Amino acid sequence: MPHHPTSKPPAKRRSAADQDKIIVEALRGAGRPVSAYELIEQVRGFGVTAPPTVYRALQRLIDDGLAHRLESLNAFVACNHPHHAGKAVFAICDTCGTVNEFDSASAIKALTAWAKTAEFEVRSMTLELRGKCKGCVATG
Ligand SMILES: [Zn+2]
Ligand SMILES: [Zn+2]
Repeated sequence: MPHHPTSKPPAKRRSAADQDKIIVEALRGAGRPVSAYELIEQVRGFGVTAPPTVYRALQRLIDDGLAHRLESLNAFVACNHPHHAGKAVFAICDTCGTVNEFDSASAIKALTAWAKTAEFEVRSMTLELRGKCKGCVATG
């Protein structure tokens, strides 16, 4: 295909679906938790420039289970599970920054049961383990 610099289409508004795709790809590409600020910097080159747009897209991705917010890091990660069922638990390595996402139905069940007994209305549930991953433990 010949290169025609002038044939480049003018920057147009991207659809919400396009924005979500760009952002989830950026999250996956990062392979580690990224802050909203970093994400905004990363997607700038893809025509997604307005921070509120990025925040809205992130919220949609979180609602759809395609991304997660790590409260303790104030950062975002792409979901590791193609078919998400329920809440995820995260093990975050403080040394290398690796995040492992896993399901722990029993932990969620125990917390939900407590909330029910205590008549506590849960707004959100975040389960994050902080420490050292296997690789970092091995290398000291
Ligand atoms: Zn997930
Ligand atoms: Zn590590």
